[in-house]
Amino acid sequence: MPRLREIPPTAGLPLRPGDLRPGRADLARRLAAQLGTPPLQVECSGSAALWLCLRVLHQRQPQRRVVVVPAYTCPLVAIAVHQAGLQLRLCELRPGHWDMDPHALAAACGRDTLAVLPTHLGGRVADVDTAAAIAADAGAYVIEDAAQALGATDRGASVGLRGDAGFFSLAAGKGLSIFEGGLLLTRDPALRDALREASARWIHRRVAWESRRCLELLGLAMLYRPRPLVLAYGHRLRKALRRGDALDAVGDRFAATLALHRVGRWRQAVGARAAARLPDWLDAQRRQARSRVARLRQIDGLHVFDDPPGAEGTWPVLMLRLPDERRRDAVLTRLWGAGLGVSRMFIHALTDYAYLADRVPRQQTPAAREFASCTLTLSNSPWFDDIAFEQVADTIERVLRDRVAR
Ligand SMILES: *Cc1c(COP(=O)(O)O)cnc(C)c1O
Repeated sequence: MPRLREIPPTAGLPLRPGDLRPGRADLARRLAAQLGTPPLQVECSGSAALWLCLRVLHQRQPQRRVVVVPAYTCPLVAIAVHQAGLQLRLCELRPGHWDMDPHALAAACGRDTLAVLPTHLGGRVADVDTAAAIAADAGAYVIEDAAQALGATDRGASVGLRGDAGFFSLAAGKGLSIFEGGLLLTRDPALRDALREASARWIHRRVAWESRRCLELLGLAMLYRPRPLVLAYGHRLRKALRRGDALDAVGDRFAATLALHRVGRWRQAVGARAAARLPDWLDAQRRQARSRVARLRQIDGLHVFDDPPGAEGTWPVLMLRLPDERRRDAVLTRLWGAGLGVSRMFIHALTDYAYLADRVPRQQTPAAREFASCTLTLSNSPWFDDIAFEQVADTIERVLRDRVAR
């Protein structure tokens, strides 16, 4: 039977036709007002924002060139560090968790360390205070990778403000999207000025890139619905799965260099109009996630990641850890490709991507590798209705109960 609907793997805020009208609207100002942050700086991607920030910080501390990142994170982070002329060092994860292990972090930081990147993975709020204390001992900066956590708060304030700087992503599928975009923030006014000046100096208008992004944004606005997504996303996903190409199935293969250009006024206006719906959207996401986390917690052997006390993350996905790779894969065999929004975050620990071998050190990071092999994600899209969700929860429950599938 042909598939009629496809749940997107993450919950992106859908655009409306009215968002697309010509004109101006100030994306950075609207979001800063909503999130209660100091002024935000728009860049052309989250990774471009990171690249810019690293270059500015490196100018302040030219003798330091190592950037410490979680051993399981987005491949674009490795590409940005490399493009900034800096050296990557991986920090092993806490066992069974996505956040950096404090002992490993202390061991990874030293006099050569420029920056540490605590990462709010999947909308969950990372332990920035611990990372910041360790970074401070080494004299390193803290950049919060909040690419997947626009709207998340920690003790009442937006994430991204505990470290020296932070960035959000506005890429397709990451909550609010202008197809590709990023936002930089810092509570330090001098650093904010330096970031603005650097952006004006180093990042230029590039009409070809911006035109392409405008078309891609129109495409996203038209296709990001359950029916068109069958062809626009699901068909390619299932083809990649048939080939056994997990990297293509999640879109983990990125170009070797980041595009760097200014974001045009129209895309910013589209984002600003959609952003007016962001607070309600985030609330609805939290409500849906709350009840689903409670349901999934009833499944023996399944771990559902949540936030530490005082933190309120965002919920583009629910991140789940299964007892082992065999059972994780048994769930994926049944559900990845079923059009139900079941997917994986990143396929590998950073050190295991063959195509990144020239920019990622060969380090032993078994906890990161285990995290990659035992976890999966459930979409938290509103199109993922209760009936479909129960079907997914029931399948996971049966796999874990029956010890099926070998
Ligand atoms: C997506 C992502 C990035 C990069 O953001 P882009 O806007 O896609 O460049 C960085 N870090 C994490 C954790 C991400 O998920």
